[in-house]
Amino acid sequence: MKTVLITGASRGIGAATARLFAASGYAVAVNYRSSHKEAESLVNEITQSGGEALAVCADVSDEQEATAMIKTVLNRFGHLDVLIHNAGIAQQKLLTDVTNDEWHRMMGVHLDAAFYCCKAAIPSMINRKSGRILLVSSMWGERGASCEVPYSAAKAGLIGFTKALAKELGPSQITVNCVAPGVICTDMCAGFDENTIRELGDSTSLNRLGTPKDVADSLLFLASDHASFITGQVLGVDGGFIG
Ligand code: NAP
Repeated sequence: MKTVLITGASRGIGAATARLFAASGYAVAVNYRSSHKEAESLVNEITQSGGEALAVCADVSDEQEATAMIKTVLNRFGHLDVLIHNAGIAQQKLLTDVTNDEWHRMMGVHLDAAFYCCKAAIPSMINRKSGRILLVSSMWGERGASCEVPYSAAKAGLIGFTKALAKELGPSQITVNCVAPGVICTDMCAGFDENTIRELGDSTSLNRLGTPKDVADSLLFLASDHASFITGQVLGVDGGFIG
């Protein structure tokens, strides 16, 4: 059975990705930090539909917790085919109002976590000469968003991380790619009012906001055999954002 670990899978894009991978026959490790009830209920939903799933609590910005999480998943599943680093946080503030703690938290959840999770998962993938690493970046990592400088910088960092790691792991037949979603309807957009949501939808060629399933579909494709010759790429999942 193929296996996947998805960070930040208790809600939003991560939860939709867990559901889709489970429905496609993967054993799924659902990482969460604080949404215990949501993660357990997702795991129950998957197991009751005949799938295999495991909830793993870890703050992925903490090296010890991230490393322990990978160990737990490897012990339970025996191997890891796909690692998806999706966990994320957002914040809208002028750069001059951002505190040092907020800056470091943003880098921690997105970039430090990518480092810790990959560092712990890569040796077993190299041993098997196979694996897929997928990072969830953002279109703001390519375009930059006003009042989201730390977020944009962290997401841009994930793009560089993807491109460099893809070169390093290519000889071991491990692919590394990232997706750059546009605006996707999740809790992360809960702060936007109706007008903003409409304007953001109108800013796409397809005239709508994305759904968590739109992003999950792109991740399933990149994890699949259909994407075996694709590595070091950034796949925009943004409905053709016009800006
Ligand atoms: P969401 O609904 O707010 O969910 C965020 C998830 O990340 C939750 O499961 C949360 O777990 C988890 N998480 C946060 N900090 C964590 C930590 N330190 N350790 C472990 N898990 C942590 O967000 P979303 O919209 O699905 O976003 C998912 C990813 O897509 C993020 O990386 C985000 O930046 C990216 N993205 C989103 C959009 C968008 O418009 N929604 C656009 C582009 C990119 P708990 O609830 O358990 O804390």
